[in-house]
Amino acid sequence: MKKILSDRYFLGRKCIYCSSNKLYRLKDKRIKCKQYEKKYSLTQLKKEMLILYYFYLELSASKTADELDIDYGVVHRKFMQFRKRIAEYCNQEAKKLNGELEIDESYFGGRRKGNRGRGAKNKTIVFGILERKGKVHTKIVENVSAEILMNEIKNKTEKGSVIRHDKDEFAKAKNHINGIEGFWSFAKERFYKYHGINKNNYPFYLKEMEFRFNHRNENVFNLLFDICVRGLV
Ligand SMILES: [Zn+2]
Repeated sequence: MKKILSDRYFLGRKCIYCSSNKLYRLKDKRIKCKQYEKKYSLTQLKKEMLILYYFYLELSASKTADELDIDYGVVHRKFMQFRKRIAEYCNQEAKKLNGELEIDESYFGGRRKGNRGRGAKNKTIVFGILERKGKVHTKIVENVSAEILMNEIKNKTEKGSVIRHDKDEFAKAKNHINGIEGFWSFAKERFYKYHGINKNNYPFYLKEMEFRFNHRNENVFNLLFDICVRGLV
């Protein structure tokens, strides 16, 4: 963390947006970039960076607020802004999937355990498509009618892809780690930490999980910085 904040961006020597070193310091101490005429405050930037760092570490908004001694509401709003930017990024990034694909649906949230039937009433239904050894694409759907699923498959996959929808429990267990089941447990483990997510915010939390899963083998902090703070991608 110390290393990040000693970066030239935070010393006001490099523009946060275009990396140019042609910067002015305004009387109110803000930084102004010659090229884009953008102005920003280093204090604000550092604060945002620290909040992003705890978000990256998957600390809750309330713990982050405690750690940084910032109002919970401020942190929560920032976290939601990050999630919205991540969702935009996921949608831009989503190319049509191809090759051998696995599709499945899963039920999130709600009080009762269990899948279809009674317990499904308060749950959010998530449809997922996973590329072999690759990325997952998720979408919240109203129901799992063939029409809705076919539509999503048509929109998100290349023609000629091989699609597997394996409901066999044995096959599921076998594919647990690399298959879409692996994504469901990755996401559910994280959702479990949150209590009472506002329904309108659910899609953004889901996209955050999709993002984290798809980039799980990378150090995503720099990518998060570009997406959420610099607004570059
Ligand atoms: Zn600039």
